[in-house]
Amino acid sequence: MSLNVFDWLDPAWNAWDRQSAKLPHAVLVHAPEGHGAFEFAQGVAAALLCENRGSGRKACGVCVACRWFDQRNHPDFRLIVPEIMSEDPQSDGNESGRREKRSEQIRIEQVRELADFLSVGAHRRGNRVILIYPADAMNAHTQNALLKSLEEPPPATVFLLVTSHPDRLLPTVRSRCMRFALPAPDAERVLRWLKEQGVGHPGAALASAGGSPLGALEAAESESDRLRFLDGLKEPRFDPIRLAESIQGMPLGDAVDWLQRWSCDLLLSKFTGATRYHPERGSVIAEIAHRCRAEDICAYLRYLAQARSLSGHPLNAKLFVEDLLLRYRRLVEADS
Ligand SMILES: [Zn+2]
Repeated sequence: MSLNVFDWLDPAWNAWDRQSAKLPHAVLVHAPEGHGAFEFAQGVAAALLCENRGSGRKACGVCVACRWFDQRNHPDFRLIVPEIMSEDPQSDGNESGRREKRSEQIRIEQVRELADFLSVGAHRRGNRVILIYPADAMNAHTQNALLKSLEEPPPATVFLLVTSHPDRLLPTVRSRCMRFALPAPDAERVLRWLKEQGVGHPGAALASAGGSPLGALEAAESESDRLRFLDGLKEPRFDPIRLAESIQGMPLGDAVDWLQRWSCDLLLSKFTGATRYHPERGSVIAEIAHRCRAEDICAYLRYLAQARSLSGHPLNAKLFVEDLLLRYRRLVEADS
């Protein structure tokens, strides 16, 4: 849990100052995907818990409460996220493939467990803060379970519900929250920040991410992974296992996307000599396509389409990618 909220979120802090003079017990913080709403809400939570804030609006970063918050063990703070986002190393063990599937939803038990937290007084005589992100990861049952706490909140308790999709929350939940729409970030500072993060063409990256700062950063990082991956694919005798390792931890859907585009270009190149997605690699693709049979490329594309639908929840991520690549190698090794 970091106290370092991006400085490009300052317009959000200014708006927050104006709107939060009388802080309600529940706030619905919303912004488009990748605009830093979660990070901002963490900053707000830290500020609400800070014991040394004085008249400042942000957490001091040095008091005991801030240190606890930073180390994620402030007794008066609860962060509720889907298991898939939780950084608990305990649930990360993946030996022998026995790992249980980690939920993308916020489970109803997570919300029910709040009752215990709320039934005892605050440990530090200050605020108690509950941050729920993304709030739309709660289904209707879970939202209903939360409703009771939102209706009768204990004193000095603040719920921060963060989402990019406020319309996915029940009207009953929405109506109990003050709505806070994050204003657009400070564009100049976003560009400077992207540059500091090593993004080569911040302006272009930001534009292609639709103005989303975190989206631009993610796309830039994934772009360098993609290029490395494509470099691997074009090697005549690449090692599928090693190439799979090199993209470990990446969203599997990305790997399938890259292979789909690459294979589409193989087929296109075979018939027309042109490529659609990789014009800069046209000659390599033509060379590989020459070694493949068209019907094998089509079969591989059909297999990728099936894999696409499984990529969100494979039984074993490592085997999943290895299988994609082993089949690809078989395809490009075929003699025409
Ligand atoms: Zn502090």
